[in-house]
Amino acid sequence: MSDMQRYSVITEKNPREIVLLRGAGCAWKKCTFCDYHLDCSDDPAANFALNRAVLAQVTGRYGRLEVINSGSFCDLDGDTMNEIVRVCRETNIRILHFECHWMHRREIPALRERFAAAGVAVKIKIGVETFDRDYRETRLCKGIGVSDPAEIAAPFDECCLLFGLAGQTVESMQRDIETGLAHFERVCVNIMVENSTSIHPDPAVIQTFVRELYPVYRDNARVDILLNNTDFGVGGQEA
Ligand code: SF4
Repeated sequence: MSDMQRYSVITEKNPREIVLLRGAGCAWKKCTFCDYHLDCSDDPAANFALNRAVLAQVTGRYGRLEVINSGSFCDLDGDTMNEIVRVCRETNIRILHFECHWMHRREIPALRERFAAAGVAVKIKIGVETFDRDYRETRLCKGIGVSDPAEIAAPFDECCLLFGLAGQTVESMQRDIETGLAHFERVCVNIMVENSTSIHPDPAVIQTFVRELYPVYRDNARVDILLNNTDFGVGGQEA
């Protein structure tokens, strides 16, 4: 997976640079729809070498950087975290987005403190996928053992939702977006795409989303919508 596109620039809605780094691998790995966690290595030196080269492309043009790594920020090696701090300082990044699974939520305050000391505000995104607890935990196996959206949101700033799955409806998807907007600063909607897992996209649900909800939220500055999981410009194959 080393020939993947790992740097991109998002020019619309919350403009920012984005890097796809590589870590030791998601510690959860149980989400039934996910094979992203295969982008990992248990060789921290190799990860750092790759990550340093990716981070070298950051210019700071918008003062905002999103770091994703097919897992949580705590899966990144120490040298890479030091390099992220250094690059933020050097390129005047003031807002830094990371991903984090629910299981690591208690590690977030220390991360915020560390980057605040460097003048950087950290925004943490959690993959909730849906606020329907039964669907989320029974079918998607997310490992978020609470129901209250406020409780889920408390340690985090942003959330991801996953649409295009069997059983979802206009009402359920809209309820998820509105709940996300009520409790988080920003919401990122991902549409399910075929991957190597046994969870498949439901074309009828995707059509429903595109017809009924995409027009409603397309221009909402607090909602990112990825109709394809490479829409942010990372994760695809390099040209
Ligand atoms: S926490 Fe994220 S990377 Fe880990 S298995 Fe779930 S969706 Fe995949």
